[in-house]
Amino acid sequence: MKADRIAVLGVPCDANSSFLRGCALAPGRIRETMASGAMNLTAEDGTDLDALHARWRDAGDAAVPDGAGAFDAIERAAAAILDGGERLLALGGDHSITFPLVRAHSARHDDLTILHVDAHPDLYDEYGGSRESHACPFARIMESGLAKRLVQVGIRAMNAPQRKQADRFDVEVIPARLFQPGVDLRLTGPVYVSLDLDGLDPAFAPGVSHPEPGGLSVRDVLGVVQGLNARVVGADIVEFNPVRDVNGITAVVAVKLLKELLAKMMAT
Ligand code: MN
Ligand code: MN
Repeated sequence: MKADRIAVLGVPCDANSSFLRGCALAPGRIRETMASGAMNLTAEDGTDLDALHARWRDAGDAAVPDGAGAFDAIERAAAAILDGGERLLALGGDHSITFPLVRAHSARHDDLTILHVDAHPDLYDEYGGSRESHACPFARIMESGLAKRLVQVGIRAMNAPQRKQADRFDVEVIPARLFQPGVDLRLTGPVYVSLDLDGLDPAFAPGVSHPEPGGLSVRDVLGVVQGLNARVVGADIVEFNPVRDVNGITAVVAVKLLKELLAKMMAT
């Protein structure tokens, strides 16, 4: 266990969402929910995050312009944290932010493996005329050679153009229909974890812009996170859209995943 600190950084950017905006509100809503007193901050392995502020901090929100320059601003904010000797857990924002975040991590880690939980492969070469769309980040990452392996879990919207891209980039896809709890993903470090909340079934996480039925349970995703043995060098939780949430259910799920990711990062 390395005793470095983890910075939780809000990345309130939803300018690259193809359908609905609202994800920029997520970091604030997650903080509010975490501070609401509705739950304690102990992860399931007993890690008491309230007692461990020496190991993690809320780094506030990155200043991200709404449009041109957003990716550079996100990469700079991530790089500043990594250069300060901390690891980064980012709260999106839509999934487009993962490209600049991984760019910052890849510059500091060889042979990055990415664990990506999502309903969608996000492998479009371009979407709606944009190569920066939240439907494209893993095409940008893989064509830039930023990761050694990309392992996608929970996929259930793989169409022909993205299948072609998945083959081109040797993406390892575990579709939702074949997912089994306890599956061994054979991940070796360093690992970057990217959790798109629409990887969960909309019954568990209705507050997303692109609900896709037939997804993973909260317990399934917790199992994937808790089962990681490799060192987690960075992570993000993206695509939570508070505008679409129902009774704050998705906000609580985001907090739960944040707690478990923090505990896992501290343990690896
Ligand atoms: Mn996504
Ligand atoms: Mn998605």
